[in-house]
Amino acid sequence: EEVVNRIAAGEIVQRPSNALKELIENSLDAKSSSIVITVKAGGLKFLQIQDNGAGIRSEDLDIVCERFTTSKLTKYEDLKEICTYGFRGEALASISHIAHLTILTKTASAKCAYKASYENGKLKSPIKPCAGNNGTQITVEDLFYNVIARKKALRSPTEEYSHIMEVVGGYAIHNSHVGFTLKKFGENTDLKTPFKSTVIENVRIIHGNAIARELMEIELEEPTLKLSLRGCITNVNYSHKKGTMLLFINHRLVDSQSIRKAVDSVYSTYLPKNSHSFVYLSLELDPRNVDVNVHPTKHEVQFLYEEQIIEKIKSCIESKLLSCNS
Ligand code: ADP
Ligand code: MG
Repeated sequence: EEVVNRIAAGEIVQRPSNALKELIENSLDAKSSSIVITVKAGGLKFLQIQDNGAGIRSEDLDIVCERFTTSKLTKYEDLKEICTYGFRGEALASISHIAHLTILTKTASAKCAYKASYENGKLKSPIKPCAGNNGTQITVEDLFYNVIARKKALRSPTEEYSHIMEVVGGYAIHNSHVGFTLKKFGENTDLKTPFKSTVIENVRIIHGNAIARELMEIELEEPTLKLSLRGCITNVNYSHKKGTMLLFINHRLVDSQSIRKAVDSVYSTYLPKNSHSFVYLSLELDPRNVDVNVHPTKHEVQFLYEEQIIEKIKSCIESKLLSCNS
């Protein structure tokens, strides 16, 4: 059974940035205003996230890493939330099957913090009271230590770190009210956004002034499709070799080939060939219309009314580009 769990976990978490995304979402769910991420060897050796959110009650610590343990389904209504991503309470469990996982946490009402270490979904030793700030610190060490195939597939800490940068940068832009910090262990900070910043300011911090000053806001409401879109796009960005596309659907960083293609096609129609753009889109869709069959940690997402929704996105971007190029 352990091997099966480990294989399943290795499917869910394919690289350190997948694990980090889940941990960031947990910190955001806990209403944190500050999230600090520390990494060694691209997250393969050491990946730590410290937040100042609600914390985990000590009486819940013995089960948080068991599969399907979640504090986020309290009423029947929430079942429709399950439809959004088709999974709940699996992230910590999965990580604990393929890494050494330690949680240090304190709720505001607790007298002290508590520390617990996990292996294969279970506590490794008794929970220890200790000193600590309000919030949660999760440390993931030796990711994939027991998944030889996965370990071999990921050879470059540098590449893994760039995926981590992308995830942290994306969440920092999307959650500009939260301060994000990313650094390599024992080194200077690579990325830092202030608490209560703005989307544009965070784009400036992460992607530079050249892009930030070109940003144009877009917005769209389509009640019939249950679609709401907001975002920022640039006209052309000559300074970058590669275009950037950041896509959030229902506040989750995802990828969609079809949206990517649609956006590229608009840009290639209205702008010179090989021009590169920065595109940040936040789509809110009816959770019931987001495909349940695609696993959440698989980057690619599918949703209903895709064609109609994509047409709307295209024309929204199109009219923005036309208005500034005429
Ligand atoms: P889910 O997020 O789907 O509930 P997870 O496995 O990601 O499942 O987390 C399990 C539970 O652990 C969460 O429901 C939450 O109660 C608790 N938890 C995890 N991370 C944090 C955090 N950073 N702050 C507070 N609680 C957390
Ligand atoms: Mg979670």
